[in-house]
Amino acid sequence: MDAHRFNRRATLRGCAAALLFGAWALGPAARAGCFDVRAPVFRELRPLVMQNPGRALSEVKARMDALPPDAAQREPRTLAALYAIRASAYGELTLTHPQRAAARAGLALLGDRTDPLRLELLANYGSSFSSAAAITRALVEINRTRALLPPGSRSDVCLEISQGFMNMLRNRASLAIRELTQAYMESVANKLTLARVEASEGLAVALRSMGDNHEALNYIRPQIDWDKAHHASDDLSGGVYFKGEILRAMGHYHRAIAALRQSRAISSSVGDQQGTAYSNLRICETDIALKHYAAARRACDRAAPVLAAGKVASMIKETHVQLARIDLAQGDPRRALQLLNHVLDKHGADMVAFTVAPAYLARAEANAALHHYSGAYHDLATYMRLYTAQNRSNQARLREALEVRFQAKQEFQRNAVLRRKLQAASDEATKQKQLLLWMKAAGIGGALVIALLSYIVIADRRHRRQLVLLANADPLTGMPNRGRTAQLATAALTEALEHSRPLTVALIDFDYFKTINDQCGHAAGDHVLREFAHLSRGALRAGDILGRWGGEEFLLVLPDATLDSALATVERLRVLALGIQIPCPEPQIPLPRVTFSAGLASTADGPRTLDEIVARADVALYEAKDAGRDAVRISKARAQSAPTPRRA
Ligand code: GH3
Ligand code: MG
Ligand code: MG
Repeated sequence: MDAHRFNRRATLRGCAAALLFGAWALGPAARAGCFDVRAPVFRELRPLVMQNPGRALSEVKARMDALPPDAAQREPRTLAALYAIRASAYGELTLTHPQRAAARAGLALLGDRTDPLRLELLANYGSSFSSAAAITRALVEINRTRALLPPGSRSDVCLEISQGFMNMLRNRASLAIRELTQAYMESVANKLTLARVEASEGLAVALRSMGDNHEALNYIRPQIDWDKAHHASDDLSGGVYFKGEILRAMGHYHRAIAALRQSRAISSSVGDQQGTAYSNLRICETDIALKHYAAARRACDRAAPVLAAGKVASMIKETHVQLARIDLAQGDPRRALQLLNHVLDKHGADMVAFTVAPAYLARAEANAALHHYSGAYHDLATYMRLYTAQNRSNQARLREALEVRFQAKQEFQRNAVLRRKLQAASDEATKQKQLLLWMKAAGIGGALVIALLSYIVIADRRHRRQLVLLANADPLTGMPNRGRTAQLATAALTEALEHSRPLTVALIDFDYFKTINDQCGHAAGDHVLREFAHLSRGALRAGDILGRWGGEEFLLVLPDATLDSALATVERLRVLALGIQIPCPEPQIPLPRVTFSAGLASTADGPRTLDEIVARADVALYEAKDAGRDAVRISKARAQSAPTPRRA
């Protein structure tokens, strides 16, 4: 048994279980075929890498030996293509040092920084690292290269996907989700099929690791469909396995078993013993959940010897935990305890984090069954501690995943609009220049040419202004976006401080907005935000600034406003918000109402920077939320001297 095959079959399998081994299993294999590499030898050998990386390596060596000694000068591209194959074959085998060496050798041969072959090598190079610092450096290089590429082009999107995978390697799942979401949307918009499949696969893995099973399930479908259509059995078994894993995590045990069996069948049809063993282990686990203990034991017994030969301690231990659970259920706590003592001999340090708590729980049960109550108590306490910590971090990750995807989608839309406008502007300019040339050629008089020229300049300037406006506006509400709001607010603050005039800011956050979205749909939430922007425009003075600070949070900056007058302004906005009708497709009882909470802070308390004053307003906002929402609070520093107004 080749231990490395274990890894290379495991792109999804490894990650399915919340990035089982860090993220080592994510090799460049995941991105094979994304870049448009035309070199014939690359196209010829690439499939072999997926089927049998060992053979691909010997094939590369034979071809290199057959090249003339001065191939680096005479046939640099062929040589570089061979290095690319070598690098990805090593990548498949997770032998990162030779992978990196091959990628580096290939890179040295190619001058054109945008050559897809070079990008393929670059992606390979980047994914050969495991230390966060090295990955970060490689990411910088990829960013520089991306700056040379047309945004949204195939190469650009493929590199963005590589970045997503690399961010997963350094455990930055939320960043990865952001990049992969963008890459996914770009590839859909630009009909880049392979990139779409790979971005969605990456997203599935990242979302699963963040606990968003539902979305992970959605994103794994394109990969499964593509692999089915292209008879890519090996990847297909990985994708179906992953689907089974997600279904199991969601508690759909019967569907999970069906998927896992299907994956097992595909793996065994291509002679992939490790893949088969993984499926068996998960089938075992699922059968336990269904209380089918005899079937569970059969599956675990089949998995155990193969996984043992694969020599990945954590996987062997996982199998033993399952076997112990079966022993327990079948009335043999003594044997269960023996197994679990062995499993926990290093207190879980050699196991994947999330598999440790269940092992303690099982041992607590075994101890209790044997009347070792103090041991049972101890194990239960450890279980509770691990479980609570894990649960908390899972929830935080899930929340983060949702937010990040939401933002990435918004950003994508904004960029798409900008790009369309830019394209239109440059098309227009080209047309006008052509017209000008034509007029010159036709001998039309100088004055007219000058008039036309100045028209072009003015039109161009108008375009630019529009673009600037667009870049500064929040696309949903048309209000200044966060960056622009901060600029405006900083300017107003500087002005106020210079002239010793008061300035008050209010941070406004809508109450229970998620509930509005949940009950009436996201479009209803959008409508509320747009309405609020629309209504508040009429309710503010010319110098007041109201901008979208993020999500359903707004920053109101009131120059020359004392706390009293600021309170009155916020109150006006509050009444306007209350009047917004939520367009709810299904009538809700009680009808949700639009309220917000706000925190106020003023320069009178001493803050000198925008960050300081916003931070104070934020604390006050938090207090308003804490007090039951639909409330306004004033930053503490001031509240000591002035009573905080209250509202029901
Ligand atoms: P709280 O009273 O504690 O503020 O509760 P909340 O539900 O408003 O919670 P929070 O402020 O944390 O979450 C804001 C939600 O607003 C999350 C997000 O789904 C939603 N949201 C953010 N931006 C938009 C948007 O542009 N449109 C819509 N429809 N919803 C948004
Ligand atoms: Mg809110
Ligand atoms: Mg909020």
